[in-house]
Amino acid sequence: MTRTLTLLGATGSIGASTLDLVRRNRDDWRIDTLTAHCSAVELAALAIEFGAKLAVVGDANCLPELRSALAGSGIEAAGGAQALVDAAARPVDMTVAAIVGCAGLAPVMAAIERGGTIALANKEALVSAGEVMMQAVAKHGATLLPTDSEHNAIFQCLAGNRLSDVARITLTASGGPLRTWTQAQLEAATPAEAVAHPNWSMGAKISVDSATMMNKGLEYIEAYHLFPVGLDKLGIVVHPQSVIHSMVEFRDRSTLAQLGPSDMRVPIASCLAWPQRMETPLAPLDLAAIGQLTFEPTNEALFPATRLAREAIAAGGAAPAILNAANEVAVAAFLAGQIRFTRIAALVEETLQRSNDAPRPVSLDEVLAVDQSARRQAMSLLETNALV
Ligand code: NAD
Ligand code: MG
Repeated sequence: MTRTLTLLGATGSIGASTLDLVRRNRDDWRIDTLTAHCSAVELAALAIEFGAKLAVVGDANCLPELRSALAGSGIEAAGGAQALVDAAARPVDMTVAAIVGCAGLAPVMAAIERGGTIALANKEALVSAGEVMMQAVAKHGATLLPTDSEHNAIFQCLAGNRLSDVARITLTASGGPLRTWTQAQLEAATPAEAVAHPNWSMGAKISVDSATMMNKGLEYIEAYHLFPVGLDKLGIVVHPQSVIHSMVEFRDRSTLAQLGPSDMRVPIASCLAWPQRMETPLAPLDLAAIGQLTFEPTNEALFPATRLAREAIAAGGAAPAILNAANEVAVAAFLAGQIRFTRIAALVEETLQRSNDAPRPVSLDEVLAVDQSARRQAMSLLETNALV
């Protein structure tokens, strides 16, 4: 049976992995809409290859280029933030949410509000909007399929089990490319060093998040919302080989783990085929060749981001949205060479401290207002504190 699919963030790393699977199973899918931030020529080529009905650029300035690249194809073009939301509201069988950052929040909410089935990779949307998003999922009968590898692993381990029987959920973390570095080395880490992930190939922002461990902090908050077992039952362990993608321990002390190659096509396939399974082009897991699986605790003295995330979700209210917004500003500044690696977490912490009177957001608009105001706060701190 052919199903319709919209892919938000088609030109990114998750977008490419998703389209690779669709390309191998062309009869199973009909692409409705593909979106990108700007990369109009690349987006148009994908829309033509997959016979999409609509292509959308989030940046309206890129629409003329998209229009000319699609000329004669019969594919509709649109641009701007509202066009992304309108695209996500179109009825399809599956929406893959793979925009990076809080920029993906409004489109994800539009897909939720039409009761869609959403493969959610865009973790920042859930971190920022937490309760607002989960309430909308319940209200509109939407289905969220966790695509982040850890959450997909937990989702698989929980199948057929009751949340009330869970004793502990443990997120695994690779530790990123700078795991064994000293404080002095971290002070001098360059963007190229921070994005050189040992196990995963990903977009620049999440690669920096992996190096700072903020990725695991965001995932901790993501897990809190997706699997409501309470913060005292959520933990993190560093597992440098990235073979176990996360695990669930039950009250009888039985632990289920999900293992697999460190390739996002595995969790994406699990979402696309859910509740069934589909082929992926990956080699079988060879544990004898891998040899060793090792584990160590997080080092929050050197990598404070997981502490900041734990504190933000424990405080609740606006704090997770502020944490996420400040981190997006800090990562962009680091990638642009404006601040040191170690200033990323420091900027997030200072922004949280200065925004502690922000009220709890109870609607999408209020979440977006918190996000904007935290960005302004972080930017003004950047101006006064650059590189120190
Ligand atoms: P990426 O940077 O490679 O791609 C991002 C996509 O979003 C691109 O298509 C880009 O054009 C689009 N985009 C960026 N800014 C936008 C904006 N302001 N408006 C509209 N569209 C915009 O990122 P990625 O690595 O594919 O990650 C996408 C999401 O998936 C992130 O939330 C990330 O945390 C999550 N994720 C990624 C991986 C991975 O392996 N790459 C794994 C787990 C979760
Ligand atoms: Mg992950």
